[in-house]
Amino acid sequence: MSIELPALPFGESDLAPHISAQTLSFHYGKHHKGYVDKTNKLIEGTDLAKASLVDIIKATHGQPDKKGLFNNAAQVWNHSFYWKSLHPNAGGQPTGMLLDRIQSDFGDFASFKSALAKAAVGQFGSGWAWVVLDRGQLKVEQTKDADTPLTAGKTPLLTIDVWEHAYYLDYQNKRPAYVDAVLDKLVNWEFAAQNLG
Ligand code: FE
Repeated sequence: MSIELPALPFGESDLAPHISAQTLSFHYGKHHKGYVDKTNKLIEGTDLAKASLVDIIKATHGQPDKKGLFNNAAQVWNHSFYWKSLHPNAGGQPTGMLLDRIQSDFGDFASFKSALAKAAVGQFGSGWAWVVLDRGQLKVEQTKDADTPLTAGKTPLLTIDVWEHAYYLDYQNKRPAYVDAVLDKLVNWEFAAQNLG
């Protein structure tokens, strides 16, 4: 068993003009695929060769001598989760149970959205912004580089990739414009709601 690159849940041009086909072609076809290939290379012939992706991430987290494998495996998982966090013609406001949870944990949707935008825009350098469920409570978090809330026992509901490779071809240094486009046009609240369980 090796780690596989999952199919994109949409076509490469389906997120345009907010995220271009060119960005997706590099981001999915080069970066995400690169993490998959590197992970497979690093587990080959080791005791993790047959482990699941999540088990590899948990087994290598916090171990300095396994940092390379952790980074690549976590980036495989984070990117697969990011693609599912996006959808053509999505964005806006969620409904149903997710909206109820947002209102009870953040007061209102506007406050929640601004906390998520702030986490995404404010993450210094490469990383991720997340909506997670932490002991029953909805939270907005940031992680650096490849780090993922999975290893902290939290349930990720949604993520936004804020590495420069996610937006630089379309927005150059204007990360806030990318984050606004994701939140207004692409963010897949249905996926987040499914992850509430
Ligand atoms: Fe990325």
